[in-house]
Amino acid sequence: MSFASLGLSAAILKAVEKQGYDTPSAIQEQAIPAVLEGKDVMAAAQTGTGKTAGFTLPLLELLSKGQRAKRGQVRALVLTPTRELAAQVAESVSTYGANLPLKSAVVFGGVSINPQITTLRNGVDILVATPGRLLDLCQQKALSFSQLEVLILDEADRMLDMGFIRDIKKVLAMLPKQRQNLMFSATFSDEIRELAKGLVNNPVEISV
Ligand code: AMP
Repeated sequence: MSFASLGLSAAILKAVEKQGYDTPSAIQEQAIPAVLEGKDVMAAAQTGTGKTAGFTLPLLELLSKGQRAKRGQVRALVLTPTRELAAQVAESVSTYGANLPLKSAVVFGGVSINPQITTLRNGVDILVATPGRLLDLCQQKALSFSQLEVLILDEADRMLDMGFIRDIKKVLAMLPKQRQNLMFSATFSDEIRELAKGLVNNPVEISV
């Protein structure tokens, strides 16, 4: 199995090659085609499985085909439980998307909000965020979700453990109903399945 056979285009394959990856990991083999087909995905995967590239690569591929984000709009939202994970995911988005004309940004709390507002006003295709700061930015009317195409929850179990369920529900209520949903979690507890029920539609289930 090669990355090229998964349906990724040259600009992305070049970035993958630059990272020195030869073969897709198990989660990538399963998640990449499903995401490219526009399906919702629910994946049980630990850190270290290559899950980040598993959702970032097909996300970049999908978004590279549509119209760029307009001012104040985001096309894809990745929610993560911590600043550290948000920064890591954003780094992956920049690395794998280096040859694409897509804009990405990362927002989290504990740092000044004003530069984040300025960035968002310029239009962002892919926004990586922690829930609390995202809600603050929404309150400040710094962004619109009217053109949102894809929602990704990364480490959903940790988000619940950290008490983010209410924040997540507030964010979900602001998003367009018609969208693609990807949910990644190390474990699939009853609580996670309950959250998934209101989030993913007829998902491709992946476990690695
Ligand atoms: P993750 O599970 O997303 O945190 O990724 C774990 C590590 O695996 C990261 O350092 C990636 O750079 C690396 N990685 C992701 N996909 C591959 C691949 N197909 N081949 C080799 N390394 C990879």
